[in-house]
Amino acid sequence: MPRVPQETLEQILAATNIVDLVGRSVKLRRAGSNYVGLCPFHTEKSPSFNVSPSRNSYHCFGCGVGGNAFRFLMEHDGLQFMEAVKRLADAAGIRIQEEVWDANAEREAKLRGALMKVQKEIAKWYHQLLMRHSSADVARQYLKGRGINSEVAKRWQLGFAPGHGGLLRRWMEEQGYSESLMIQAGILAESDDEGGRSVYPRFRQRLMFPIRNDQGEVIAFSGRLLDPNAKAAKYLNSPETPIFNKSRVLFGFDQSRRAILKSSQALVCEGQMDLITLFESGFQNVVAPLGTAFSEAHARALKRHADEVVLCFDSDNAGVKAAERSFRILAPVGLGVKMAALPQGEDPDSLIRSQGTEAFEGLLGFAEDFLDYQIGLFNQRTKRGSRDRAAFVDLVAENIRYLENPVAQEEAVQQLAVRLNVPIETIRERMRSENRPRTYEDRNAEAMPESKVTGKRLLTAQNPGALLLCQMGLADAEILDWMRKEVTSQFLEDVPGSELLSLIVEGDFNPLDDHSRSAFLASLEPDQEAAITDLLFRPSPPGRLPEAEEAVNGLRIIRLRGLRQRLQARLREPGLPGEEAGEIQSKILQLHQELREAETAARGPASGE
Ligand SMILES: [Zn+2]
Repeated sequence: MPRVPQETLEQILAATNIVDLVGRSVKLRRAGSNYVGLCPFHTEKSPSFNVSPSRNSYHCFGCGVGGNAFRFLMEHDGLQFMEAVKRLADAAGIRIQEEVWDANAEREAKLRGALMKVQKEIAKWYHQLLMRHSSADVARQYLKGRGINSEVAKRWQLGFAPGHGGLLRRWMEEQGYSESLMIQAGILAESDDEGGRSVYPRFRQRLMFPIRNDQGEVIAFSGRLLDPNAKAAKYLNSPETPIFNKSRVLFGFDQSRRAILKSSQALVCEGQMDLITLFESGFQNVVAPLGTAFSEAHARALKRHADEVVLCFDSDNAGVKAAERSFRILAPVGLGVKMAALPQGEDPDSLIRSQGTEAFEGLLGFAEDFLDYQIGLFNQRTKRGSRDRAAFVDLVAENIRYLENPVAQEEAVQQLAVRLNVPIETIRERMRSENRPRTYEDRNAEAMPESKVTGKRLLTAQNPGALLLCQMGLADAEILDWMRKEVTSQFLEDVPGSELLSLIVEGDFNPLDDHSRSAFLASLEPDQEAAITDLLFRPSPPGRLPEAEEAVNGLRIIRLRGLRQRLQARLREPGLPGEEAGEIQSKILQLHQELREAETAARGPASGE
């Protein structure tokens, strides 16, 4: 484990506002002394994710994740511990002196750091080429044709990747970037074919769109083909790298997040050009998935910012199919999904350029719930009495099951019955039929963060009395002091289910100082941290020192009984030497005596024994 002095960690945590930190990616509202929001780590419809400024930590009552600001960055942004420490230290202007440092973690952090730097630098270089280089003329012409001026190109840091590798090679040499780093960054690609291994620029003759993380840092690229005759994908994205996970990033989200929060609505378009045109035309609450499909992580991220998404897709078959795929990912997290179908062959970009922002505004005004749209489209295109009708009822019945809200489901069933003239019972039957999609509950259970570390397993394995003592020790300096003297870890070694208590009595922290307590959490294993955070979020335990003494006595009884049982088992072992047997018997007698005292104390002084 890397080592940063405890007091530095405390200092960093003290300087970090956890509500602000979490609030950058989770919509939070005040609830008493805490803040609540939808958990970013599992799918839920009502908020059970709590952030407490006074405890300086977060906790989800739904899935059990929890911890301090470092843990949040590790779990949410996928940072390593030291990276999280460094990011918050930087933000607070605190310098860290590292003591010892784990070689693996160092290598990983170094690689990630190097990749971030490459992406940042090459974004600048691509951009300069676009603005100035003679070979980028074709890209500038293309942008001009799409009404993108140099101001806009600057704002989005658009770039140009040249058709041949020579310029890139020279730039790499000047900058001192190795081929292997460039391959890891996804800028260079390698292939093995008959001619042997070859390394070449992944993006050639493409308009480059930097893809940014939530902090607005470049982590990857999407490149649009400029030669309409070339036989290659129109859009090409960077491969996944240690800093880029396609299913977690939405293009433009770093820019549009605030507008989405404000309007509680997200417009979804299919391409980067569409997004930029919409954003620059004043429709700032807009996102685009990278490639074709949304992931469940995307859906959850959107749900944390908005109640409704409007799909701005083409009304051709491909567009409607894409919309249906999106609906099936977005609806189950409780997002309302509307369709603003564009006239065939148009995209938001072409529509705005040919007919102005009013035309697009009007289109949004006519956006329909996706299922209504789907039914309307079917009625428009299909003759009455067609054999397709039964199959279509199946399809819509299946889609209705993806709606998260039972009331909305019921409304959709009624609508479908009326508009397709089908008995309600038939639809219900279709919805119940065998090959139905998985229910929301199945999906929800699956969305639970199995890979995420929670404290649940550890908590259920703890002795209730030990947990009560944990809560007292975390909240009360006097009790903690007393426990640190009375309850040794040697004592606890023989009490099953006291691991957490043992951590707490051994821990070096002051319960009256949140930052010291929070830094203590940072020294634990992730499941331990989540479990102890869970305890911090429970209502204060009743009682003071007398109750603590009582609870410790309870543990003593458990310990003595356990020890006695073990010795009794030894005594029954065949072939035990007589001398040893005598010794064990006397120990058992001793334990009897102690146990009797502890049990008497448990009954209380007034029991008159
Ligand atoms: Zn959760």
